[in-house]
Amino acid sequence: MEPLRDYQEVPVIDFQPNPHPASDFERSEILRNPGFAVHATDNVITATWSDGNWHDFRLEAFSPIRLDPRAMALHYGQSIFEGMKAVAQGDGSVALFRPDLNARRFANSALRLGIPPISVEMFLEACHTLVSHERAWVPDRPGTSLYVRPTLFAVEPCLTVRPAEEYRFELITLPAAPYFSAEFTAISVGVLPEYTRAAPGGTGAIKCAGNYAASYLAKKRTHDELGTDEVLWLDATTHTNLEELSGMNVMCVYEDGSVATPRLEGTILPGVTRDSILHLGRALGKEMHERDITLEELRSGRVVEMFACGTAAVIAPIGRVRQADHEDLVFGDGTPGPVATQLFGELVAIQRGESSHFPEWRHTVRHLPTL
Ligand SMILES: *Cc1c(COP(=O)(O)O)cnc(C)c1O
Repeated sequence: MEPLRDYQEVPVIDFQPNPHPASDFERSEILRNPGFAVHATDNVITATWSDGNWHDFRLEAFSPIRLDPRAMALHYGQSIFEGMKAVAQGDGSVALFRPDLNARRFANSALRLGIPPISVEMFLEACHTLVSHERAWVPDRPGTSLYVRPTLFAVEPCLTVRPAEEYRFELITLPAAPYFSAEFTAISVGVLPEYTRAAPGGTGAIKCAGNYAASYLAKKRTHDELGTDEVLWLDATTHTNLEELSGMNVMCVYEDGSVATPRLEGTILPGVTRDSILHLGRALGKEMHERDITLEELRSGRVVEMFACGTAAVIAPIGRVRQADHEDLVFGDGTPGPVATQLFGELVAIQRGESSHFPEWRHTVRHLPTL
């Protein structure tokens, strides 16, 4: 791959906005009941990599894209993404939640798959510019957000097995209601020792499309055979340690009030929510550990709460762990525990600008003059 040029340079984004955006009426109808990231907003930001550099950053109308059937992402899987939230603040502004971490992770994901990364500066500029332009689409009820989804994939038409030489970056935004529409209710997870999500040295620590595809059959089997909502993945080597869910990290709360989450050793996605909870828990005076957690430990009775965490749901309490030929593990009475509930409330308050903790996690979106 070519050495990275102009790594620090922030692109000039060419503005060619949608000439036919949704009407105020259409938009408010969608915002009344947006679902989770179902409706794309009027505009996207796209960019192209070819001839050894990123170019043609453009804000333009959302539209389907034409892809050559030989596009290399379809065959060899060079495809990555990110997910973050822009949240309405009490003062009418909009803030992205820790987008710098998503920017760095996006670059790491790219490098791992032989994709030329978008610099942190370019990534942040694109996110700020699109959210600012689409700010009328940011819902403001508690728990809602504008979901920001960057993707990057190989579009070069070529069947030779090698990294592509042409890529497309697409940044889209979609209004989002709370991920779990019902009240804060506990999910159940199933353990299937015959599958693994990520092996040492593999791609478990990056957000690539293929990791998700590889999780679906196990999810279907846990659902069909165990009746659970999600898969609880164990480590690939010993099948004894907890790793995470397919799209959320996991944490355990112990009877002494301490909290533990599996450490990052290359097979677990370094979640922004996970990191935020580790910091927040310490700020709230809790003992927070990153260490191995065995499945056996969950059966010891010392774990009083378990929960999953990720951008979409923020925190999803885990009420039950199931495994074939084992007794169910039930935490508390199967409903959300006090620690998960407290951390959820604090984190959402930080995101909405209603907490004094970690103000630096909110990146206020610059208001651009409307064209
Ligand atoms: C995205 C993701 C998470 C959560 O990361 P956040 O940055 O908190 O959204 C956890 N695990 C996997 C496998 C993921 O893809």
